[in-house]
Amino acid sequence: MNKSVIEALEQLLIPARRILLITHVSPDGDAIGSLLAMGSLLRGQGKEVTLACEDPVPDSVAWLPGSSEVAHRSTGSFDLVISLDCSDRDRMGNIYEDRLTSVPLLNIDHHITNTRFGTLNWADPSCVATSQMVLYLAQTLGWQVTEPVAFCLLTGLVTDTRSFRTSNVDAATLRAALQLVEAGASLSQVARQSLDQQPLAQVRLFADAVTGLHLEDGILWTRVTRAMRRRWALTDHGALGLSNSLAGVREAQVVVVFTERDNGTIDVGFRAAPGYDISQVATSLGGGGHPLAAGCTLSGDLDQVQDQVLERVRRSVAEQRARALTKARVSESDA
Ligand code: 5GP
Ligand code: MN
Repeated sequence: MNKSVIEALEQLLIPARRILLITHVSPDGDAIGSLLAMGSLLRGQGKEVTLACEDPVPDSVAWLPGSSEVAHRSTGSFDLVISLDCSDRDRMGNIYEDRLTSVPLLNIDHHITNTRFGTLNWADPSCVATSQMVLYLAQTLGWQVTEPVAFCLLTGLVTDTRSFRTSNVDAATLRAALQLVEAGASLSQVARQSLDQQPLAQVRLFADAVTGLHLEDGILWTRVTRAMRRRWALTDHGALGLSNSLAGVREAQVVVVFTERDNGTIDVGFRAAPGYDISQVATSLGGGGHPLAAGCTLSGDLDQVQDQVLERVRRSVAEQRARALTKARVSESDA
């Protein structure tokens, strides 16, 4: 970690007594893992900490120590707010109430699309997960990484990299994982509980969504509607992992999954094959993410949203292919 970042972080953290930690709406393993770990680490430093997220903790990570403490409102007064794994202000959802805007905001995140919305912004896209950043912070400041903290942080690394398989995994990622295993976390337990287990109803919904797949010029897409979820009595927040599974389809360069949420918004998940960058499309629609995995949240009619998004994806894919072709021609003529 850069020395000036450490000093700036310490200046905010040391005097703070009552801290509100917020992670993003529709939380995933890294959101919850980094939230719980940071909460536990700060408590170890004698801070009074409140953990909050607009949406419920998904079942896949509800077994993590402290998950029942995550509040869905932010009552109380605070002298510091910390956002974790949020690439823009809106990702904090309704937890970030107007009254909090006068409180210093520390933004800790690993998305390349981070909009630097905090009073202090520590954004490091070289980290595969916000949990990796929290580990570095603890190590740098000499905070003890206990076994429960190690379980939370390893869950963040495992879920954001789908068990160390994404293209951003490097030696530093594996070193971080090694240190977490040495601190007592079990890799097999984390992988099984957070990635491999799901209720049967979810598999059935998955099957319906797969039945509705369309492939058109390398773009593979499907949708999960409220009616489809109702059919299998599933709630809004069960993460299907659909886009991750579809990302392996050989014929697809881009995968798009539209999920109609109970609050009326449409969650759009994108995946791209290596060589493509889908975060640009997500950002242009007000979302964000990483080159190969990104998303956005839109409001409006599902059919309209779908047409609008697919049109942009088609255009972006065509541009990226044209650019790659030009590059290949140039290097051919150079050779
Ligand atoms: P997923 O498809 O797994 O939900 O998300 C993939 C990536 O896109 C994650 O890094 C996630 O943070 C980002 N992402 C997903 N949905 C949104 C969104 O609505 N807004 C922003 N800014 N990023 C999103
Ligand atoms: Mn993350």
